[in-house]
Amino acid sequence: MCWSFKQLLHCGRPLSNFKLTATIKTKVKRTTNNAMSKLCLKDYDAYGFDLDHTLAKYNLVNQIQLTYNSLIDFLVHQRGYDPEIRTDVGLHKDFICKGLFVDTEKGNIIKLSHSGKILRGSHGMRMLTQEELVSAYGPNLIWEHYEHAREAVRARAAAQVIDYLDKKNGGPLLSYRDILWKDLQEAVEEIYRFQAFGENSGYFFPVIKESTSKYYQSSSEGVKQWLLDLKQNNKCVFLTTSSHIDFASLTASATLGEDWKSYFDIIVSNARKPGFFQDHKPFLSLDYNSLQQHGVYSSGNHSDLEKFISKLTGADKPKVVYFGDSLCSDAFPVKTLTNWDLILVLEEMEAEGYHPHDNTHHYWEPEERDRKIVRKVNLCVDEEEEAYLLSRQWGSFFYHPEADPLHDRHMNTFWGELITKYSDIAIPSMEYIAGLPLDHQFTRFDHSVDGSTDGFSPAKPKPLLPLVLSD
Ligand SMILES: [Mg+2]
Repeated sequence: MCWSFKQLLHCGRPLSNFKLTATIKTKVKRTTNNAMSKLCLKDYDAYGFDLDHTLAKYNLVNQIQLTYNSLIDFLVHQRGYDPEIRTDVGLHKDFICKGLFVDTEKGNIIKLSHSGKILRGSHGMRMLTQEELVSAYGPNLIWEHYEHAREAVRARAAAQVIDYLDKKNGGPLLSYRDILWKDLQEAVEEIYRFQAFGENSGYFFPVIKESTSKYYQSSSEGVKQWLLDLKQNNKCVFLTTSSHIDFASLTASATLGEDWKSYFDIIVSNARKPGFFQDHKPFLSLDYNSLQQHGVYSSGNHSDLEKFISKLTGADKPKVVYFGDSLCSDAFPVKTLTNWDLILVLEEMEAEGYHPHDNTHHYWEPEERDRKIVRKVNLCVDEEEEAYLLSRQWGSFFYHPEADPLHDRHMNTFWGELITKYSDIAIPSMEYIAGLPLDHQFTRFDHSVDGSTDGFSPAKPKPLLPLVLSD
């Protein structure tokens, strides 16, 4: 199944509303490479990076708790909700799951399959039975309108608001749409309002400014060395982030260090992705004439950036690979609007586990893994983070057994479909890829095969591996 550009652009906006139309085709631009050729970092002229959750790794548990508390603070202090609505988000971490959708009409939280079928659902925090789902959505379980909760914790907060409204009303409301839009959407807009960083106002930025180290993980020396290695031989390394420069500076300093700018040939803040890849907004700078090496800009567009790369590297048609974590803001626009290749950073791979040989082990044996690693990177896995990323209640990000009658373990969730289509390879973390030699050969996803799983590196997520019985 393919999705229209407009649909996926909208799905980057939290709680936005649009229709699924399975028949509209969206073309993935083919790169100069054959789709099935190996991907090798050495072959590129330029390396582009998203910042949040790509180059910059957050301490996820603290970040989830801060985001949740910020949303609840807004609802209690600005919208008059009962302070008792606040709970310890850690007590219900199994409800938190990336990629869920919010049916703001019915007040349901939903997980979708690759074909748009409802796989699981809850009303507020209460999981719905199959009978209840059929009674709400019909026997085919197809839902035409959907709203995507961009951060996992927003679906959790939405569920809690729905429960609160039901309790206040003495039963379900006819529609939750207006209230969820008015209260929760405004909460999201308010906590991330970019001016709040400079004003030191609101519930989010002052906290993160006050205790920055609590919310970020420092990049290892191996990642910093890898960025320097990429720049060798007249290659270009660039950063494009939708954050404004003040927040981006805080994030990049906390992860790469005070000299973070030195790793990049050009830095673009406020890039408004995915618009950066679609629109032709000018680059803004206090002394802007033309794009300069080591410049820091705001806004801009990918085609002028490509001209800059061409000038810097001397490559007529530069080969660019971009690293991002968002399927909506990074992967989809890059693969449909540019000739760049896309490496997707998927924290869920780490959490769900991967093993090149079977699914009875969670990760590679350390000796086998370490044989391939050439830089001092940090491959430790935080078990508490894993507990937040994994959800027994909602199931795997990649695979849903009930929708796999042939038991061939193909990727059959909504987001799994997009991974196959709009990325070239998927990796668990920057630390992993930074550990590998630059001439490492990665197998790509085959975009012509629905649900292709070849592009996961170092190995397929565990739920996609055939079940091997252990003794
Ligand atoms: Mg990001």
